[in-house]
Amino acid sequence: MQREGGKMKAMVLDETSAVEQMPLKLVDLPEPVPGRGQIRVRVFACGVCHTELDEIEGRVPPSSLPMILGHEIVGRVESLGPGAGRFKKGNRVGIAWINWACGRCPFCLKGEENLCDTAKWTGKDVDGGYAQYTVVSEDFAYPIPERFADLEAAPLLCAGVIGYRALRLSGMENGRILGLYGFGASAHIVIQVAKYKYPNGKVFVFTRPNQKEHQDLARRLGADWIGATGDAPPAKLDCAIDFTPVGEPVRQALRNLEKGGRVVMNAIRKTTPIPELDYAEHLWHEKELKSVANVTRRDAQEFLPLAAEIPIVPEVEVFRLNDANEALIRLKEGRIRGAAVLKITE
Ligand SMILES: [Zn+2]
Ligand SMILES: [Zn+2]
Repeated sequence: MQREGGKMKAMVLDETSAVEQMPLKLVDLPEPVPGRGQIRVRVFACGVCHTELDEIEGRVPPSSLPMILGHEIVGRVESLGPGAGRFKKGNRVGIAWINWACGRCPFCLKGEENLCDTAKWTGKDVDGGYAQYTVVSEDFAYPIPERFADLEAAPLLCAGVIGYRALRLSGMENGRILGLYGFGASAHIVIQVAKYKYPNGKVFVFTRPNQKEHQDLARRLGADWIGATGDAPPAKLDCAIDFTPVGEPVRQALRNLEKGGRVVMNAIRKTTPIPELDYAEHLWHEKELKSVANVTRRDAQEFLPLAAEIPIVPEVEVFRLNDANEALIRLKEGRIRGAAVLKITE
């Protein structure tokens, strides 16, 4: 029996503010009803991403308020909207940051739907996963490989997928050296992909000096060298990915880069400016600096089976839905080991 008109619990953002003010509020809302081609998903787990901090604190404000944040969603299909048939009721699916793209703009036609002019982003333009239910177009949901538990699968959907995209854009190859700046949700997955795909490559990890837990995790996952953000590594980096939310590591990464190398920045916004670059030291010799923006469905479709094949073992810290503010504050302070995930339904 399809039940409509029920109520659900959700953590809602009404107004942007510093996250320390606990801006997400637990409310009862009507359960969403799937429209044409959509599915309604009962949410089991939702990952907590740094982008939510950017939304809450106004650097990337939601396009309307109130908004239910959250774009690393794992749940089961609970009902189908008219015309939907790709999934069956009960199928386990994931929903990621890309919620919808037009399919017709020059970017979509080139396979770059991550740059679509009118794309919608989950938990920013439409309600996301900090709730018991959500709806999405069936074309923007993915089967979740069996081997992952719900809580493990959640961080694969953003931290994993965008990390995979960043690794691809970095130009990493076997035998080369990859630098990772910041070692949180995304980097701890990227190192596992890099070690699998490039067994003769090296991975150097840079963290804040006091982040012993992050350093221990990096060591356990096979980092070839671990140092502080300002340290000079034992060899130049052929490529680097900057996962930090601040500006200074970009300059550090460029300084440590080999000639012809590339630094990829994996952050939707920086909370502090990138300091002035010196052309000779940071850019000369064909060094490149590139951002990674959003994800495509292809990124998710390629990454999820690869994650199962490796297999990736995401490290997660679990919070209750009501404790989403607390999870976000800890994320802001760099006090999450691996990825934070909200457990929403038993
Ligand atoms: Zn994210
Ligand atoms: Zn488009």
